[in-house]
Amino acid sequence: PGIIDIKNLYVSYAPGTPIQRHALRGISMAVEKGEYRAIIGPQGSGKSTLLQVMAGLIEAEGRVSVCGKDLRHKKNRDGLWRQVGIIFQYPERQLFEDTVFNDIAYGPRNMGLSEDEVRRRVKAALEAVNLDEEVYCLSPFKLSGGQKRRAAIAGILAMEPEVLLLDEPTAGLDPRGKRQLMDLFSNLCRKKQVTLVLVTHDMEEVAHRADTVTVLYRGRIAMGGTPKEIFARC
Ligand code: ADP
Ligand code: ADP
Repeated sequence: PGIIDIKNLYVSYAPGTPIQRHALRGISMAVEKGEYRAIIGPQGSGKSTLLQVMAGLIEAEGRVSVCGKDLRHKKNRDGLWRQVGIIFQYPERQLFEDTVFNDIAYGPRNMGLSEDEVRRRVKAALEAVNLDEEVYCLSPFKLSGGQKRRAAIAGILAMEPEVLLLDEPTAGLDPRGKRQLMDLFSNLCRKKQVTLVLVTHDMEEVAHRADTVTVLYRGRIAMGGTPKEIFARC
């Protein structure tokens, strides 16, 4: 079994109403520990929904196990944030503390770590995302767009998640910013054995980086395999 194991997953929005949407229709997949998995597919194909299920944020029908926890139990979904980090689209909108330092420290402090350990983690995370220590004391709102994105991502990295879920993490960045972030994620996977699941609509972005690709279409898995196998068929 993988670190993420999904069998026969169904998710509906607004079930039992005239506006019901079947967002996911019978997904089965497994992601191995240390794997870099890309999920691609057109808008509305269910990518974000799948990521939110993996993070324990949405209750779903079917069997979902992440880091050995059965997510059918609410208790397991609620505690999952300690092991599984999720980075939403435009994460910088969730910066809210008075300083960059306190923003990045928010998650580690919530984990009950000592202030020494919190400081060590904030430093390591800032270094990983390539932000100078000079920004520590600034308000996050003083940062540039790209810096804000990196600060928000540092806040998740500082929790040292086993599994990192990324929803279009490079949206809106310039090509250089995109490349830097994608290099960072590749390094996390290769050097720290963090399991990555990265959602994108841009096949090019992951073609030379991901180990495996899952293609979603209308809530179902249309194709799966290595990038080579997938691109040979597109
Ligand atoms: P279509 O859009 O092709 O009409 P539906 O959305 O009605 O398809 O779903 C097709 C089938 O998939 C349904 O008959 C149902 O059995 C199954 N299905 C889809 N979503 C769910 C769900 N959330 N829960 C249980 N079964 C589902
Ligand atoms: P993607 O990330 O691939 O764009 P989503 O998972 O966001 O796809 O959406 C899958 C389907 O579920 C779409 O038809 C979308 O309109 C619908 N959907 C997503 N979120 C909601 C919601 N909160 N309420 C109702 N429908 C939703």
